[in-house]
Amino acid sequence: MTPTYARAIHWFRRDLRLTDNSALHAAVAAAGEVVTAYVVSPWKGSHAWTGPPRQAFLASCLAALEGEVARVGGRLIFRRGAALAELERLVRETRAEAIFFNRDPDPHGQKVEAALAVRCREWGVALHGFKDVVLHEKGEVLTGAEKPYRVFTPYRRNWEAQPKPPVLPSVTRLVAPGAGLASDGVPTLATWGLGACGAVLPEAGERAARQRMERALDRVIPRYAETRNTPLGETTSRLSADLRMGTLSVRELYHRVVALAEAGSAEVKVSAQTYVGELAWREFYMQVLGHFPEVLEQEFDPSWRGLPWSYDESRLQRWKDGMTGFPIVDAGMRELRGTGQMHNRVRMIVAMFLTKDLRLDWRLGEHYFMQALIDGEIASNNGGWQWSAGTGADAAPYFRIQNPWSQTKTYDPKGAYIRRWVPELAQAPLEALLGPAEDSLWGRRGGYPAPMVNHKEERERTLEMFKAHRAAQGR
Ligand SMILES: Cc1cc2nc3c(=O)[nH]c(=O)nc-3n(C[C@H](O)[C@H](O)[C@H](O)COP(=O)(O)OP(=O)(O)OC[C@H]3O[C@@H](n4cnc5c(N)ncnc54)[C@H](O)[C@@H]3O)c2cc1C
Repeated sequence: MTPTYARAIHWFRRDLRLTDNSALHAAVAAAGEVVTAYVVSPWKGSHAWTGPPRQAFLASCLAALEGEVARVGGRLIFRRGAALAELERLVRETRAEAIFFNRDPDPHGQKVEAALAVRCREWGVALHGFKDVVLHEKGEVLTGAEKPYRVFTPYRRNWEAQPKPPVLPSVTRLVAPGAGLASDGVPTLATWGLGACGAVLPEAGERAARQRMERALDRVIPRYAETRNTPLGETTSRLSADLRMGTLSVRELYHRVVALAEAGSAEVKVSAQTYVGELAWREFYMQVLGHFPEVLEQEFDPSWRGLPWSYDESRLQRWKDGMTGFPIVDAGMRELRGTGQMHNRVRMIVAMFLTKDLRLDWRLGEHYFMQALIDGEIASNNGGWQWSAGTGADAAPYFRIQNPWSQTKTYDPKGAYIRRWVPELAQAPLEALLGPAEDSLWGRRGGYPAPMVNHKEERERTLEMFKAHRAAQGR
């Protein structure tokens, strides 16, 4: 069959894989030759929305992708610069007739896509965008009145009822134009002017992601309903960074989990359904960001805008350093610094502590997480922070303030997670991990600080802050 285009560009973005990749699959079907390209963003030094761990993980994903593309006969071209300018150069150099890409759920990416659509018309180049990052894009799951959902449960019900897109075959052969195209090479941390990342990161790339998925399907997801709130051990799938980078397709993951449920016991079914619910949360927050991009600046619930949050730098630093004197909080913050990851239950605990015990602005925590997490996903992160602050879509009401000590008793009752991440506490008596212990119980603290605040008192002050704000609005 004659291809529609002699030559096309596939623009890799957050879809760094060959398996079940919507746009790449379509590009290969439509074009005689496919130029695969990745544009490395040109910022230097620091970035409000990312940091060394995620950039290091991204660079390793790109190195792995370069190998995968070469294995099937293609060549991955790297260009450093602004996406539009680099794509224009590439179109000129290759005389490509079309650009294929997978759509970004984030507002910034969408702005670039809109601008590219205009430029492609000027260049006389066809542009093909595909759904790939999600099972359902923001316009697909709406209320009966065609409005976006603001609450998760009805969203999930509707999301689940929608037919899901099928898995596409892997791209096994790429025909690339002959040599001669310049490539800037795989980026490193130095490309962005970043120093060493310091965290021990998981293996990156499609192959490693697929191995993680198989392991999770085998060992974790069948028991997920029971294990998912335990912060230490193989209790959750740890696939969020792969979904973030697109080294794993959410379609494939979804269909594999559904197949597991169909073949499994009642217990496995419940676990698989619980897991699918988490994938729905991911898309719920993406549609919140898509419909209400102002959440990146402001509280989702307008009535909580203007709360008198604190900006105390030294308190923020103690939280970042894992030196608050609340062992569960410090364990989480140190896991984050050590691995670029943190268990979901602990994310909620540290976020609630920052916003409700320290009353620091949730945006400070949101940005720090984006700089420290390898799975940093603008929508889920914003959703998680606003949930914890009590200001978001379907958030915890402001008066439901979690007690870090009770959370420890429930989710880390033996202190195993704490001892793993806070070495000063390795020998501390269990009581000292489960409540604000007197120094007499500790012997010596070994450099570990006493709790920086009294939770009960801070809880009262926080409730006052919210109530006073409400009263000032005449509510
Ligand atoms: C304050 C805060 C910040 C967060 N920031 C991020 C972030 O930047 N990136 C991110 O991917 N997730 C974020 N989450 C959600 C959640 O903590 C992570 O998705 C989860 O810990 C990733 O580990 P996992 O892959 O083992 O998850 P699993 O428990 O195995 O869940 C499977 C997948 O479902 C999705 N998921 C699970 N829980 C949530 C959730 N609450 N919201 C949205 N998606 C979810 C993820 O894609 C995850 O990989 C945040 C949560 C909170 C409370």
